[in-house]
Amino acid sequence: MCHNRELDAGLKNLMDIALFRAIIDEARQWANDVYLHHRGEPLLHPQFFDMIRYARRAGLRTRFHTNGCLLDTEKTERLLDAGPDLVSFSVDGFEKSIYEAIRVGACFDETVENIIRLVSRRRDRRLRKPYVVVERIRFRHSNVPEDPAAVAALRQRFLEAGVDEVIEKEEYVWAVETAPETAAPRRLSACTFPWYAMVICADGTVTPCPQDFYAKLVMGRWGETSLREIWNGPAYRDLRRRYQTDIESLPLCRKCDRLCRKTVARSVPLQYAITFLTDHLLGYGRLRAWIGTAERKGVELTGEAERPGLTRGFPTASRTSETRRKPSSRQ
Ligand code: SF4
Repeated sequence: MCHNRELDAGLKNLMDIALFRAIIDEARQWANDVYLHHRGEPLLHPQFFDMIRYARRAGLRTRFHTNGCLLDTEKTERLLDAGPDLVSFSVDGFEKSIYEAIRVGACFDETVENIIRLVSRRRDRRLRKPYVVVERIRFRHSNVPEDPAAVAALRQRFLEAGVDEVIEKEEYVWAVETAPETAAPRRLSACTFPWYAMVICADGTVTPCPQDFYAKLVMGRWGETSLREIWNGPAYRDLRRRYQTDIESLPLCRKCDRLCRKTVARSVPLQYAITFLTDHLLGYGRLRAWIGTAERKGVELTGEAERPGLTRGFPTASRTSETRRKPSSRQ
């Protein structure tokens, strides 16, 4: 589960838009896309839509992940005006009682309505963007199984309304020192984050990956030095070296579940490879909606399928029904 509730109040801050613009101005020189969220709800930021616009004008693809609770009528129009490339919704349960037990304070019916309103208004306005994904999380320790019929019905409702994809994802195990030792076998070089991504927290702290929830792996701080200098600096170089030669000395990485996920070509993480190819070959459009992405029923990515208590995939329907079979008439 997300550790947000355990974050110190001082760390629950919003990125200043001036800082955001300065980061984008530098990152646009080499970055490909920007994920506009990290350990918080992005729709809480009063200038969030300006940020999307700014990043888009800089030539970066934009995507974000939200719980969808705040996406009211007004925000829906503003989101469509801003035009991010992809929005994914975390719907933690496909049944009202389970959803509201997990996401305390949220209203299941409102969240579903918000998502359906977005795709409906996107169609009304004949817009292509954003590509809309609904994620259902498979919780590792859930004692209450969801009703397969209810899950299948809601999935179908989303797809018929115009959601591009409904996927399932394994619950994240955040990289924290108190995480349990992983039972699954660790794979060689199965994390590419230190070599291809950068997470910048609201205060400018740079960490190598989104699984470092508390930003313990500090690579530098924007403002004190440039992103390029941080990327090539001693902290990143040391992390990459220790990752390859002495992973036991990295308390977060050594227990991280990324290292237990499936790989291809000996050491390339399967999920990254598929995501990379999907993002770069299919983009975020009709072809992607038609083919679907990796996290669909039956595609095993984590290598932990045998774990007791874990069930995989949506309960019914054929594989191809995970995505809409007929793309809408959006432009
Ligand atoms: S192994 Fe885990 S904690 Fe370490 S860099 Fe990769 S994702 Fe982050």
